[in-house]
Amino acid sequence: MGTSRWRGLVNSGPRRPRAFTQDTAQVLAFDKKTRQLRYLPAGEGNGEVEPGVTWRGHVARGMLLCPATDCGLPFGRVVAGGARRHHFAHRPGEGEHDDVTGPETLWHLSAKDVLGRWAATHPSLADWTLHLDDTPITLPDGWRRPDVLAVSPDGVKVAFEAQYSALTGTDWKARHDFYAKAGVVDIWLFAHHGPQWRPATTRQRHRRELVWRDPDWAATVQLSGLHQTMLRHGVIPLWLDPTTQTIGTATTRVHPSNTSPGERLWEDSAYTLPPRRTFRACHVAADALQQCEVDLEAGELFTPARREQREEHQRLEQDEQAARDRASRHEERLQAEWDQHQQQERRRKDAERAAAEARQQIPLKEQFPPLFRQDPPPAKPPWWKFWPRRT
Ligand SMILES: [Zn+2]
Repeated sequence: MGTSRWRGLVNSGPRRPRAFTQDTAQVLAFDKKTRQLRYLPAGEGNGEVEPGVTWRGHVARGMLLCPATDCGLPFGRVVAGGARRHHFAHRPGEGEHDDVTGPETLWHLSAKDVLGRWAATHPSLADWTLHLDDTPITLPDGWRRPDVLAVSPDGVKVAFEAQYSALTGTDWKARHDFYAKAGVVDIWLFAHHGPQWRPATTRQRHRRELVWRDPDWAATVQLSGLHQTMLRHGVIPLWLDPTTQTIGTATTRVHPSNTSPGERLWEDSAYTLPPRRTFRACHVAADALQQCEVDLEAGELFTPARREQREEHQRLEQDEQAARDRASRHEERLQAEWDQHQQQERRRKDAERAAAEARQQIPLKEQFPPLFRQDPPPAKPPWWKFWPRRT
């Protein structure tokens, strides 16, 4: 409801790192000792990996390797302090990743790791089985291997797809249909940089549907043909920033009715809703992944932003119903007034008719006595009465 607009102003609690800044800082490292990926939490660069072992010490011993597939070199240092988020860095001259393959595989790797970690620890998926990139979903006419697959004890399957590269709406629809046919809930998460993340142009930012924004909304991005296809099929685009473990939800604050140009619109009468499929851009509401859960009934990742959108949708429906009730009450009142008027008219006419009929019964001589009066005309004075008198 209305409180949402002030969330960002009433700032309480620990400061969260800003999400969706297209930060590609390396926060994952392959630990030589445990042979698993390590995630460096925000602001923990000076802290400890595990009791007695600091991140800096671990890096200095060469235990943390770069997880990029074409790299694998040990990291040189931990960058902690300064404006940027704490992250791992290579020694100068080492690990110069190709911009195309490097960050992509890294993002994909981080996304899978973060999703897997979240799914493994989230209370709503407590006794679910997790498969990271290793269990294909097969149908007679093909197969797909989701990045993360969660299977409930009673066999419900949820597939997470982390999508970095470009994808057409048609291809997405085919994959979405494939999962639907296999009875799998599919959740698509896009990268926070690269082809799936195009910041909105100035022209798009000035469009009416993007005029109002919440201070909590992290960014404004373009909606591609793929996103519009998703919206057409009732799927709200989501983005994942693995560096801050944040989920972005496509959102806008709009007037639901089509208004005529030049009409003055107020934010108070607008609603926070998913973008319409014709929109060229939308805002991105950032929520911590930890606060999201899988809504099996709706087949989507239920983020706090989605909760707000659903509440706003309900409010919109109630308001529309109230407006309809008001209109019908007004209509009824008008109808009642009109009926009353008709009745009065009828009564008046009846009375007139009755009076006319009653008049018919009375002889004309009584009705209009002057016409029938037989009095002689008044005597005219003789002509000499008008003669001017001499004085
Ligand atoms: Zn590297």
